[in-house]
Amino acid sequence: MAKYDIIIVGGGTAGCAAAYTAGKSGLKTLLIEKKIHLGGAITSGLVVPAMKAGDNQINTDFFNALVAELKKLGGQITYQGNDGWFNPELTKIALDNLMQDAGVEVVFGATVEEVNLSPSPQPSPQRGEGMKHISSLKILSPYNCSLQNCRNILSEPIETRYVIDTTGDCEIGKLCGCEFWDCHSEPNRKQILRYAQNDVKGEESNINQYSHSPHPSPSRGEGAAPTHLFLGGEVALSQPVSLRFIMSNIDLKAFSEWILELDKDRSVTTAEYYLTRGCNAHSSQTTAPSPTEKSCRRGEHEIHLSTAYTWDSGKNWALKPLFDDAVEKGILKDADRNYFQIFTVAGMPDAVAFNCPRILEPESLTDAVQQGRQSILRISDFCKKYLKGFENAYISNIADELGVRVSNRIKGKYVYTVDDLKSGKKFENPVVISNYPVDVHSAKKDASTLEKVQDYQLPVESLMSADIENLFVAGRCLSADFMAQGALRVQPNCFAMGEGLVKYIRQL
Ligand SMILES: Cc1cc2nc3c(=O)[nH]c(=O)nc-3n(C[C@H](O)[C@H](O)[C@H](O)COP(=O)(O)OP(=O)(O)OC[C@H]3O[C@@H](n4cnc5c(N)ncnc54)[C@H](O)[C@@H]3O)c2cc1C
Repeated sequence: MAKYDIIIVGGGTAGCAAAYTAGKSGLKTLLIEKKIHLGGAITSGLVVPAMKAGDNQINTDFFNALVAELKKLGGQITYQGNDGWFNPELTKIALDNLMQDAGVEVVFGATVEEVNLSPSPQPSPQRGEGMKHISSLKILSPYNCSLQNCRNILSEPIETRYVIDTTGDCEIGKLCGCEFWDCHSEPNRKQILRYAQNDVKGEESNINQYSHSPHPSPSRGEGAAPTHLFLGGEVALSQPVSLRFIMSNIDLKAFSEWILELDKDRSVTTAEYYLTRGCNAHSSQTTAPSPTEKSCRRGEHEIHLSTAYTWDSGKNWALKPLFDDAVEKGILKDADRNYFQIFTVAGMPDAVAFNCPRILEPESLTDAVQQGRQSILRISDFCKKYLKGFENAYISNIADELGVRVSNRIKGKYVYTVDDLKSGKKFENPVVISNYPVDVHSAKKDASTLEKVQDYQLPVESLMSADIENLFVAGRCLSADFMAQGALRVQPNCFAMGEGLVKYIRQL
């Protein structure tokens, strides 16, 4: 029977950080990924850039290694003080390289079919009595009989000391019969409701501790609406899904000049030129020669920018009149304008990635992606008609997975709450230190949040299953309440969870 020190299921954001750290630590590591590439939300979901999470982050070795590897491949740029502007396609190659370098054994196109549980062989006082233990796993791959039939790990159970579930939706937890938090069962419902009600009343104490960002910036936060989570007596405990896409063949020089002129107060628009050839990329504020359309197209200059619009009120959105006109003329449907955000992509000098469309109240996964693709068609038509520089643009990539912000969260040894987060509670074994805001998107108007917070710490106990002693999680399925997850779900936090968890495990 094959034996590993650690098996990581899900080669996405948190899983890659965990696997790399484990491999580099000398642990015999197996990484199981159902797709044929690593990267998860970054590569399958086209989710770029990784947001910035403050200056005091810990467990950043993997992030730094990924930045360095992508830089070598021409797929990373530092923009607005954030190193996390990645190229999703080159990230696939960078992650292959990093796993090879760390000695991680990767199995693509595979998932876990069966988990064998037994009573804990050595009950540990740290984890409590009566816990179960994963003794082995069995892998399922559609390629069993052809491409991968030479590998005995696919045909018999594999033994492991530790399992980390980094599938995003806690797939291994489900196989183990673990309990979850989700939109139907919420650990901190009353408290979240209380905060939301106070917020609407505008109590001063609450405004101070729970204030919304007055100038939400796309380079600072995924969300963009300085508004409330309280919806006429109900708290929305789910976030809308999105299907991200990329358009190419954009004249970014023309677009950046036009959008900077249009969004004169620059509250949500940024744009800078970078010299990319012959030296390290740097901003136009240095001595870089001025870009021309040709130099941009030749890749000598890259323009980096971001801008946004949502249908929430309370902000003088520069793009609003264009969206209103397009809805009136039937080019867009009303719901298409609920959220619009674009970012340039490192190493793609004529492209932008869209953090939209959000799909409101789909009936099923199939309905969600079909609706999403129809919306992408309309948005691309809108961009070509209304945005300067997009005249000859085309849809070049559509994400091959639906962007899910929150779903199952494991019931862990410790349930991290928004109170812990906002009070900056300190823990003995923090795996994340971050100041990324509570970023909760809502399908309803004026109901999203992007709340500024001070540094907070996530304890490793929020990544431990409450029932299975050698099962851990990392990433968006951590043990946290809905609002705390809204802050912890972003990529730098997921990277830190994966890395910090493995550093903890290797000391056990
Ligand atoms: C629309 C959207 C926009 C966002 N925007 C940003 C942003 O701009 N910046 C930012 O920093 N964050 C953003 N986020 C958040 C962030 O990208 C994700 O929360 C984070 O990447 C999740 O990491 P993860 O490791 O938990 O899951 P993932 O990265 O999704 O990884 C899960 C992996 O597990 C694999 N898998 C799943 N099930 C199985 C199975 N049964 N067997 C084997 N493998 C399996 C998947 O294929 C995938 O590779 C956004 C999220 C969404 C949805």
